[in-house]
Amino acid sequence: MSVVPGQADSALTAEVPDPGLSDGAVLVQGVLVGICGTDAEILHGYGQPPPGADRLVIGHESLGRVLTAPSGSGLYPGDLVAGVVRRPDPVPCAACAADQWDFCENGEYSERGIKGLDGYGATRWRVDPRFAIGIPAQLGEHGVLTEPASVVAKAWEQIDKIAARAPRSGRVALVVGAGPIGLLAALLGVQRGFEVHVLDRVTDGPKPGLVAALGATYHCGRITDLEVRPDVVVECTGVGELVIELSGKVASAAVICLAGISSGQRSLPVNLDKINADMVLENAVIFGTVNAARRNYEQAVDALAKADPEWLAGLISRRVPLSSWPDALDRQPHDVKVVVDLTR
Ligand code: BGC
Repeated sequence: MSVVPGQADSALTAEVPDPGLSDGAVLVQGVLVGICGTDAEILHGYGQPPPGADRLVIGHESLGRVLTAPSGSGLYPGDLVAGVVRRPDPVPCAACAADQWDFCENGEYSERGIKGLDGYGATRWRVDPRFAIGIPAQLGEHGVLTEPASVVAKAWEQIDKIAARAPRSGRVALVVGAGPIGLLAALLGVQRGFEVHVLDRVTDGPKPGLVAALGATYHCGRITDLEVRPDVVVECTGVGELVIELSGKVASAAVICLAGISSGQRSLPVNLDKINADMVLENAVIFGTVNAARRNYEQAVDALAKADPEWLAGLISRRVPLSSWPDALDRQPHDVKVVVDLTR
């Protein structure tokens, strides 16, 4: 799955040499790759190819089957695996040295399929055992959701830590945006015992039903019209205006987690002094989160293994064969998670 970052019409299926041992000792047969907003952004200028190359193999939401693995790696031929996206910076910074590459200090990390390293959108890929996550056989193809779920697991891990600062009677969570990240955030919220509300713009398609099937409540409309006062918010749209609207709508000591980005460039006149006062007087926290550490992938696998397999199947709304994979980048109205089948 080859692209030239920044060239919108460059997506194609290419023959490239087999992966070299420098990618890692575990050889994997690619099974599925999930497509996300970042992949579309790469065609519009985000990301970068490996040093000296024009093209980048994309695909960072991976699922594959082990072909060969070194002894002692804990992996065996036939096992399902997902690859970690980020690699530590070479310095390494304090965070990368502690295997917290998701908190890299100097920005010199690399990311498979995004920044400086070829990704997992290939019929064969290699990975170092340190960056290979074993997927239980019973998760099967739903293991392709491990990477997006790892981002959400990291978000919730931090929410739990921040929320622990204040005794609270309420456990109401609001997820803004019912894309795959929002729906997985709702799943993890329900698993934690929160009363979960999900807000999105659409009224039809699979999203309202997926939210209802979790036992959560679907809302359509504006944040300002919501009647709930959430203790926790997971913002997954990246629409900056929503962040401002949220600050006046949350419970005391709320934790607002920003997990989405958008390429929007809008400016708005806002009363920042009022937002400041609201946040101070209500002990509010707003924080951003990106990427995930290895333990977050493991938390993601546990969360997916506990989820209803039928619900996970509903999240994967479209499959595209490798031979026509660029179709996966064309968003269709009822898409939730689109995956590329690397075996076809
Ligand atoms: C990926 C992250 C990555 C981020 C920024 C997201 O789509 O899930 O792993 O760190 O993009 O490149």
